[in-house]
Amino acid sequence: MKQKLQNFQLSLVYKSLFDYNPNASYVLDTQGSFIIVNDATFTLTGRTEDELLSMNFIPLIREDHLEVTLMHFNEALQGKQRSFDTVILHKDGRSVDLRVIAVPILIQGEIHGVIGIAEDVTEKNKIQKELLVSKSQLQNMFNSLDVCVWTLDKESYTFKISPACEEIYGVTVKEFQEDWQIWRSFIHPEDQEEIESRYQEVLGGQSWTSEYRIISRDGKTKWLYNYVMPIKDEMGNIIRFDGVVTDISGRRKIEEDLHVMAFQDALTGLPNRRMFNKRLEKALKRAKKCNTKLAVMYLDLDRFKFINDSLGHQAGDRLLQLVSKRLTETMDDRTVISRQGGDEFSILIENVKDIQHIESIAKSLLHIITKPLQLEGYEYILTTSIGVSIYPDHADTADGLIKRADQAMYRAKESGKSNFKIYNPGMTQDLSRMMQVEQALHKALERNELSLYYQPIVDTCSSQINGFEALIRWKHAEWGFISPAEFIPIAEESSLIVPIGEWILQTACIENKKWRENGFPNTYVSVNISARQFEQDRFVQQVERILQETDMEPHYLRMEITETASMKNVENMIVKLNKLKDLGIQVVLDDFGTGYSSLSYLQKLPIKALKIDQSFIRGINQDSNQEAIVKTIIGMTKGLKMNVIAEGVEQKQQLEFLQELGCYKMQGYLFSKPIPLSAFAQLHDNRSI
Ligand code: C2E
Ligand code: MG
Ligand code: MG
Repeated sequence: MKQKLQNFQLSLVYKSLFDYNPNASYVLDTQGSFIIVNDATFTLTGRTEDELLSMNFIPLIREDHLEVTLMHFNEALQGKQRSFDTVILHKDGRSVDLRVIAVPILIQGEIHGVIGIAEDVTEKNKIQKELLVSKSQLQNMFNSLDVCVWTLDKESYTFKISPACEEIYGVTVKEFQEDWQIWRSFIHPEDQEEIESRYQEVLGGQSWTSEYRIISRDGKTKWLYNYVMPIKDEMGNIIRFDGVVTDISGRRKIEEDLHVMAFQDALTGLPNRRMFNKRLEKALKRAKKCNTKLAVMYLDLDRFKFINDSLGHQAGDRLLQLVSKRLTETMDDRTVISRQGGDEFSILIENVKDIQHIESIAKSLLHIITKPLQLEGYEYILTTSIGVSIYPDHADTADGLIKRADQAMYRAKESGKSNFKIYNPGMTQDLSRMMQVEQALHKALERNELSLYYQPIVDTCSSQINGFEALIRWKHAEWGFISPAEFIPIAEESSLIVPIGEWILQTACIENKKWRENGFPNTYVSVNISARQFEQDRFVQQVERILQETDMEPHYLRMEITETASMKNVENMIVKLNKLKDLGIQVVLDDFGTGYSSLSYLQKLPIKALKIDQSFIRGINQDSNQEAIVKTIIGMTKGLKMNVIAEGVEQKQQLEFLQELGCYKMQGYLFSKPIPLSAFAQLHDNRSI
């Protein structure tokens, strides 16, 4: 080194080193005043050479660093080399971070001052600080994220994982570090196969995202989102695997809930209409492929609207739940039962063998629905009407089948409820027939197409006719007789029931007087009053007026109202019933057992008689459940001291069964069909049966 430098004057070399040093270089005397400064010092401090050479370094130092800086300066004056950080104030007021090396000037054993070299480390410090901050932020994130982050070095198999693993798997960081493959033991058995094969792909260098389940250490099933990324070097060799695991159970739960909401009926938990359609579409594909038949059943509870109106929606909802439970319990697992909305249910039956197969299912459904339901200590009897359509006989699309089943259900309702009907092509026209019937009914009164038939009500104990039920008949000029079961509901819908009802009452009173004068003294007429008619505000006044106009003794007039008619507004109804009672008119509750029956409710009503619906009478000797219902109703009427009439008695066995239970008042084909007044004379023995 000395050899090479021989051409240079050493002092010039040092001067050059000093002058051109990119760091501020300066010499301070023992007092701290600047003696020599290089160019870089001007830039660093923002001061000129003159300014610097006339000042001490102390005013340059920022107040908070002064003490430490002076300490280092003094130590340098004592012969020590110092290296330290300080902060000065630039002339423009900003702080400048310095890394300072202070070396004493030692000449012949004596200290003459200090050489200083100061590097501007402001930028470096700033970056460092930022790095520190972001590092600690990252660390914080790493530690506190519920996302679990991990990295596996492929060379050394060192494994790092964030503490979130504990929350997710129930496994500590330490355990993971000891055995990083431990995660595999938590995979849900059903997802194991898929995950293992994906895992092999990752090892082969592919990135991997998937969602799968684990059973964590505490036994909870969790959904995880997993992302693994193999990291490669420039040569394409895998050096590391990085991964992220997130617990997405919350999100999956919401998704599942949404799915359930979209496809399940919230009240009953049954599949909803949308789900039913989906399942039906699938079943249709199967049926087409395998050449099999399937059936769609459409159920609509009879008179359910009235239950809701009178009992309240909560009780209505409870009943719907009970009904759906019954349906599910009755049908096997392969049958799809859905709630279509309101009181409507639909059922899908695959592999239908023949019509008998369907009929037997429909019958058993009617049967199980009719079994009394217990709700809040009361007993209710519901009935349902069922319509059935069959693939491929009636339609080959889901929509078509549902529509046909619905049409058939409508017909089942018309033909007296608690009934089922299998679709036939004529039904499609029947719907528009409804419109025609309504049109024709408008003219029926003026054209004298209406008449009343009468069916004897017999006391089987004395074999005497007590009275006659008036049943309307409509003989249309072209269509012939139209059943009241068909046109009464239409009349009710269109308000035609009010004028028709008035006509019925009038005619019944006039004709009753006639027959009493002609061989049937002391027999009453029992007139059916429709719900719409009874609900009319002026109903009682109308009755009074008719009694006056026809000069009728009120105790020869009875009225039959159906349970449904009486359900709507109980208070209002009680007022009306009491008024009728005051007039001397007896009211009978008709079709008892098919609507809704609540004992406490019955007790409240000023009604002294009820008619057991003929559907129950039909079950005598055939169906022990129906018999049980008949028994219960008769027993109940005794308890309530009410009269009971059985209608639809067709067979001697039914008569005997009823008599044994103490029910003697009956009506039915066994005694007589409904007949016109002109045929009264044919009733043998004039008045007894
Ligand atoms: P309802 O009041 O329950 O009448 C009894 C129905 O049973 C009548 O049918 C009657 O003909 C029928 N029936 C009587 N005995 C037997 C029997 O032994 N076997 C069978 N299978 N049936 C029997 P109809 O006349 O077709 O009337 C059906 C329904 O139409 C009536 O049921 C009633 O709800 C309504 N209705 C009939 N006439 C009138 C009326 O004048 N006014 C109102 N508002 N409704 C009426
Ligand atoms: Mg009746
Ligand atoms: Mg009846």
